[in-house]
Amino acid sequence: MKIKKRWALSLALTLALSLTACGTAPQETQNKLDFFAMDTLMEFSAYADESLLAEAREIVMDIERRVSVTDEKSELSALNRDGGGTVSPETAALLETALSLCRLTGGAFDVSIYPVVRAWGFTTGHYRVPSFDETAALCERVDYAAIRLNADSVTLPDGMEIDLGGIAKGYAGREAANYLRANGVTSALLNLGGNVQTIGSKPDGSAWRVAVRDPLNESAYAGVAEIRDKAAVTSGGYERHFTADDGQTYWHIMDPATGRPARNGVLSATIVADDGALCDALSTALFVMGAERAERFWRSRNDFDMVLITEDGETIVTPGLAYESASYPVRTLSR
Ligand code: AMP
Ligand code: MG
Repeated sequence: MKIKKRWALSLALTLALSLTACGTAPQETQNKLDFFAMDTLMEFSAYADESLLAEAREIVMDIERRVSVTDEKSELSALNRDGGGTVSPETAALLETALSLCRLTGGAFDVSIYPVVRAWGFTTGHYRVPSFDETAALCERVDYAAIRLNADSVTLPDGMEIDLGGIAKGYAGREAANYLRANGVTSALLNLGGNVQTIGSKPDGSAWRVAVRDPLNESAYAGVAEIRDKAAVTSGGYERHFTADDGQTYWHIMDPATGRPARNGVLSATIVADDGALCDALSTALFVMGAERAERFWRSRNDFDMVLITEDGETIVTPGLAYESASYPVRTLSR
C-alpha cells in the first residue's frame, strides 16, 4: 500500500503565509512561533509579545492533551475506554460545541465516527479496506444523539467512541485567537495546519490572503480568499489518504451513513466564518454532504461563506466572500 502522510507541510499553509507576508509594512513588531501539535505544523504570526504567542500555543497544546484520540492519557481516551466518565470543564465545553455542530449538520458531522475511522487505519497507520458488512456493522455504533453530556459527566452507549479530529484544530484556533484578542492583539494570523484563524486585518488595513489548495495538484493552489477577523478552514480528501491494493484511493473523511470515505462529488470544502470551530465542523460536514446538499444547507443559514471545489472541476463560491480563482471556473451562488 502506498501511504501519504498528512503532516508533511501542505502547500496551502506555505502559501497562506507567503501570501500574507508580501507587501506588508509592519507598524509594530511582528513575532512568529512555529510548533508541532495535533499531528501538524502550526505557524502563529502576530503583532504581539513573544510571551503572548507562547501562551496561545499552550492553549492549543492543552486542548490536544485533553482530547487527542491517540494519546491514551487524554481525557477523551479515558472516556472511550470506560464508556464515559467525568471530564474537565474545558473538555466538556469542547464536547458541547461539537455536539451542537453534529445537530446543526444533521449528523453529516458526527463525533461518534471513531470506530469507523480506526477500522480504516487512519489513527493507527495500519491502513486497510474493511468489507461492506464490517462498515455497515460499525455504522450501528455511530450516533452522536446517543451521547449524554450533563455538565461534566459523559455517558457513551456500548461500543461508541468519540473522535474530535474534525473540529479540534478549528476550536483550538478560536480559543487561541480569543485569548490573544482579550490581551489586546488586533492583528494576527494563526495557521493550524491549514486551519487558518485571523485576528483583524494586516496592520496596513488590508485583508489577509489565504490560499486554497488545488485538490488535484499538490504543488498548486486553486485560488485565494481574502478575509478579515475570520477563520478559513478547508477539508479535502488529499490531506490524508492511502491507495489500496485494489488501486483505489481512500481518504479520511467518512460518510457516517455508510461508514466509508465520503465520495459525494466534492474534492474540497473551505468554510469562512467568525467562529473557527463552526468552520472546522462545517468543512468536514459539507465535504460529506456533497454540493447540492451543501448549497441547500448554506441557504438555510447566514453565518458562513464557502468555496466548494467539485469533481467536475467547478468552484462554487458564496457571494459574501472575496475569492479569486487561479484555475477552475467559478459559479457564484445568489441568495
Ligand atoms: P477534517 O480534516 O477537519 O475534515 O477532519 C477529518 C477528521 O475528522 C478525520 O481524520 C477523522 O478523525 C474525523 N472525521 C472523519 N469523518 C468525520 C465525520 N463525518 N464527522 C466528524 N468527524 C469526522
Ligand atoms: Mg473539520
